[in-house]
Amino acid sequence: MADIILNNLSKEFDDFVAVKNVNFTIKDGEFFVLLGASGCGKTTTLRMIAGLELPTRGSILLDNEDVTLLRASQRDIAFIFQFFALYPHLNVEKNIGFPLKIQGLSKKEIRNKVHEVAQLLHLEHLLPLKVSGLSGGDRQRVALGRSIIRRPKAFLMDEPLGALDAEFREKMCLELRKLHDDIVATTVYVTHDQMEAMAMADRVGIMDKGVLLQADTPLTVYNKPRTMYVGNFIGNPAMNFIELHSAIKKGDTSISIDGKSLEVPECYEDSNTDLNYLGIRPEHIQLTDPDKGITQGKVLSVEYLGSHRIIIVETSLGRITVRSGKVNASIDENVGLSFSNHQLVLFHGDTQIAIQSQFIQ
Ligand code: ATP
Repeated sequence: MADIILNNLSKEFDDFVAVKNVNFTIKDGEFFVLLGASGCGKTTTLRMIAGLELPTRGSILLDNEDVTLLRASQRDIAFIFQFFALYPHLNVEKNIGFPLKIQGLSKKEIRNKVHEVAQLLHLEHLLPLKVSGLSGGDRQRVALGRSIIRRPKAFLMDEPLGALDAEFREKMCLELRKLHDDIVATTVYVTHDQMEAMAMADRVGIMDKGVLLQADTPLTVYNKPRTMYVGNFIGNPAMNFIELHSAIKKGDTSISIDGKSLEVPECYEDSNTDLNYLGIRPEHIQLTDPDKGITQGKVLSVEYLGSHRIIIVETSLGRITVRSGKVNASIDENVGLSFSNHQLVLFHGDTQIAIQSQFIQ
């Protein structure tokens, strides 16, 4: 297994920039998920790592070797995608063992290794069966078995669970992560599904318009988004953003909202603009009496979701979404809102990038 390093990687299709100056290192044994909306450049980045697409600029290092110009077959990487290609006329055992047959291993060696992999993937009972009769989940397991049997330097997966139904996806997510932990494989996994990303990743890289906006642990991207796009993309419901019509100065530990002072994490830089934004997650807002809290408003909707409620409140600061565990509210009720100030994130109004603060360090 190996580190994967991307240096200033860019890909242009004529004058369209699909991937722009992407830099990151995937550590040996890490499960790294590339996440983003459709068309943001995830697959193109993965295909460049795989050797299926040539970068316009930049370089790729695999296990300290510059592989930028090497063909896919010369990179010792396994690529697993949504529409896995298995040999329908062969049984599971022969499908899994196929890469070793190509390498010229003896029948005995192949049989031993196939059984080892089948045990890891709980496929032993399926070994004699033709793959054409298997369920989607089992077929994907066989495809995984075929790719892990030769122990490549890294695994690249492009929405591998996309074709499965919701129940199978959830199960396969857990299995994939466990498999990763069992074989300690460097993995780059592409998805547009934030739940999949948050459940499986050691680190999540969030892309938008070909740019890597942030690469951090799931906890960090959720709690400390580097940009408003990340705060909005991660989390359901998304982070609330409140316009602040005042400049923020280095050393500030409070801001003014609706004429009231709100304590914030200490800022380490100026905002240099009179329009900034305050980001706050719905679960970090509490419902209070209308005359208490930092602002107040009227309840627009209440959605009961079993363990919690999603309450939308119309305020003079705009619509604010609250996730409430216990406190209920009724439509048209006047309520106050208070904010958990240690969880606040401030953003520059012009760049929409987080203002450096104690919290964001
Ligand atoms: P999706 O999840 O929909 O696959 P993605 O984030 O993986 O999205 P990419 O497939 O990397 O996105 O595509 C990024 C952009 O580059 C898209 O706008 C796509 O249309 C464009 N693109 C990708 N391949 C080519 C190509 N061969 N020629 C021209 N444009 C391309």
